[in-house]
Amino acid sequence: MKTAVVVGGGIAGLVSSILLSKSGVETVLIEKEKTCGGLLRSFRNNDGVFFDYGTHILSETMIKELDDILFERMNERGWEEFDILKPGNIICGKLYDKNQMIYTPYLPKEIYYQGLVELLHTKPFEKPVENLKEYTEKQFGKTFSQHVFAPLMKKLLGCKLEDLHQDAHLLFGYNRLVVADGHTSRELKKSPFFESKISFETFYEGVSPMKKYYPSDRGGVGKWPKQLQEQAEALGVKILTGQTVRKINVQGEQVTSVEIDNGDVLFCDQLIWTLSPYLLLKAANIAFDGKPPQFRTMTLHHFVFDRPFSVNNFFVYCNDANYLSFRITLYPNITNSDERKPPYNCTVEVLSDPVDNLERLNCAIHRELIDLKIIEEKANVLYRNTQKVEAGFPVYTNEFVKQNELQRKLVKENFSNVSLLGKGNGVSFFMNEVLVETYKEMKKLIETISHQYN
Ligand SMILES: Cc1cc2nc3c(=O)[nH]c(=O)nc-3n(C[C@H](O)[C@H](O)[C@H](O)COP(=O)(O)OP(=O)(O)OC[C@H]3O[C@@H](n4cnc5c(N)ncnc54)[C@H](O)[C@@H]3O)c2cc1C
Repeated sequence: MKTAVVVGGGIAGLVSSILLSKSGVETVLIEKEKTCGGLLRSFRNNDGVFFDYGTHILSETMIKELDDILFERMNERGWEEFDILKPGNIICGKLYDKNQMIYTPYLPKEIYYQGLVELLHTKPFEKPVENLKEYTEKQFGKTFSQHVFAPLMKKLLGCKLEDLHQDAHLLFGYNRLVVADGHTSRELKKSPFFESKISFETFYEGVSPMKKYYPSDRGGVGKWPKQLQEQAEALGVKILTGQTVRKINVQGEQVTSVEIDNGDVLFCDQLIWTLSPYLLLKAANIAFDGKPPQFRTMTLHHFVFDRPFSVNNFFVYCNDANYLSFRITLYPNITNSDERKPPYNCTVEVLSDPVDNLERLNCAIHRELIDLKIIEEKANVLYRNTQKVEAGFPVYTNEFVKQNELQRKLVKENFSNVSLLGKGNGVSFFMNEVLVETYKEMKKLIETISHQYN
């Protein structure tokens, strides 16, 4: 029997534990917090209202074996199914309520027309390019680069486009722009060249076939990692919460054991590491001249109001650099029904420079919700709370990518029995990217193990 230690009880750690134990590998999972789930956890306030920490909506991966593990009996278990999520976005102080992608017709007229003409005159080019400035100028034209991407990325990551990696905007999903009405966009998108730049006008078109889920009782997405934790435990995975790794012991190229806070030494044939490679190299005492990954300060502002919101979107993405708010999640709207039931709760994500006064920021965000016409001025706040998210969005500069590549390479050179997975490895970010990567890596590993033993 092979043994594995999995470090990190987020979705990457839970899914790899399930896959390993299903193929007979004795697995121990170590999680720092009291509960597993990572950025898929939720919390309940004293009035019984739930708020999520990161991802809200689940989405199938279209890999049958994986989806069977992840989404077993979801309807019976109280999950509501969605075909379309209803995001809106704000730019130039105005809400466009039919798409997350930035609605450029709201830019000042001369800028919009100039930008549109330039975008239509863009030429094919080869990647990689030097930085995000070069990429957005080549992909969307100089005007949209300067008036859309430069202020947005400064707000979200605190950097100029020339200091960011060419793919930094993808952390927020902004790979296309809305530039025209439905008919024109549809016609332009028939060309693969423009398809990669132009979004449909509304979220009713180009809908992905993946089913999406949120708990129908609004009990928080954190219900899902709990289900997965139960599944893992039923398969025999030993889950140790409230523990971190103190030291990693190595013999030759093999990690042989992991020492944790309570003094236990966990022996392993394979280590699954879902945190940053930097932390692994440090825990293994490998001397190297590298920097830790930098993350943007991220705060969550949770509110409950005494009346419904003024908009019907599930989420509103505020891409306007004059406001601090970014994604605003309106929980009562996450339903297929038109009825809006209390509690009227929301979470606002803010990426910013370091914050010294969380309460003041929370008040500023409340004011923004009123100014952005998300909630009426006369609405009373029944509950408010602010939380910090550790290691949320990396500041995705060329230096970050270079350091991460070097550190991943060092891990590969030093250890033959380590799998680097999850958002922490700096390669994948979105939940489904993490899930698919985890599945593929674990399948490869399980195949190798079965060859060794047969
Ligand atoms: C605010 C926010 C919003 C997001 N929204 C979306 C979204 O809408 N859609 C989407 O697809 N993706 C979204 N993402 C990304 C998505 O949440 C992640 O891809 C996914 O949750 C990553 O899972 P993971 O297991 O790799 O990492 P994590 O969820 O970060 O889990 C890592 C786990 O390791 C634990 N840990 C940390 N240090 C130690 C230690 N020393 N020892 C042991 N355990 C440790 C942590 O407590 C955590 O449980 C969002 C991310 C953020 C930050």
